[in-house]
Amino acid sequence: MTHRPFAAVSTLTLLLAGGTPASAQDQVLNLYSARHYSTDEALYSNFTKATGIRINRVDSDDAGILARLKAEGAASPADVILLVDAARLYKGEVDGLFKPIQSKLLADAIPTKYRARDTAEGTTWFGFSTRARVVVYDKLKVKREDVDTYEELADPKNKGRICIRSGSHPYNLSLFGAVTEHLGEPKAELWLKGVVANLARDPKGGDTDQIKAVGAGECQVAVSNTYYIARLMRSNDPNDRALMGKVGIVFPNQNSWGTHVNIAGGAVARHAKNPTAAVKFLEYLASPQAQDHFANGNNEWPTAKGVKVNNPALQAMSGGDFNSETIPLAAAGANTVKVQQMLDRVGFK
Ligand code: FE
Repeated sequence: MTHRPFAAVSTLTLLLAGGTPASAQDQVLNLYSARHYSTDEALYSNFTKATGIRINRVDSDDAGILARLKAEGAASPADVILLVDAARLYKGEVDGLFKPIQSKLLADAIPTKYRARDTAEGTTWFGFSTRARVVVYDKLKVKREDVDTYEELADPKNKGRICIRSGSHPYNLSLFGAVTEHLGEPKAELWLKGVVANLARDPKGGDTDQIKAVGAGECQVAVSNTYYIARLMRSNDPNDRALMGKVGIVFPNQNSWGTHVNIAGGAVARHAKNPTAAVKFLEYLASPQAQDHFANGNNEWPTAKGVKVNNPALQAMSGGDFNSETIPLAAAGANTVKVQQMLDRVGFK
């Protein structure tokens, strides 16, 4: 996804300026969203059609939204929040930015590994779609079996081959947090050190840039979220299609702990003025129709039990089904601070 700076919506500005609160007949839900997909427009308008509740959206990236919630405090107009990473959702939870909610519908629909830990007060966040963090490799220069586990990214046989975005990016913090959960901290740090030793260049750019660097011959192995790969596979640009013909995709650790998946998810804001409508919105996101827009619109897998997506690009790259890790994402998120310290020690930029 592209990460744009804040684009405040005008009605929000009115609210901040002391405009009258919305009446029952004209309910407005203030949404802070890190999702920037055109397909989401249909998602919001269907919710409005079904409930009469209008959605007033403010766009930013995950970090910008969390910073804004913190700065606004109790005066925040935010009712509901959508973020695109488990480590960030976890951060929002521990910083007390979310309101724990009780919803039988959500508790039944969303598997426990894709949501915050349940407490007596309720649950603070729920994942509504998953994306896998996989390996892309140059089919002519790299043997698939040399890159079919995350562990091998640190193996000397892959020296000088790897391109990856910044270690401190949330997608990598979540992946490395999961690796730490699986291997334990000492082994995870050695692994990170090995990955740094194997880099073809200093980390820069987003996931798509790493795949393109494989195409350009700058490296032979890249790490990417699956929806960026699906986007290139479905692109009308012949260069993108040529690139995708040149690379192989591997879902790592199929024979051990499974491929790391991350989530896009939602939460109710701690100081929501309209918490009931906010819960209603999150419940709506778990419905089959909304799951199709939410997940499929960005080439992701739905999380709600019993919902299946028919997406040819996802089907082609995963071979239909794959083993994903079974640890709760909240556990990977909880390792974020530890991971950042390890990154600093091993010099992973
Ligand atoms: Fe993204």
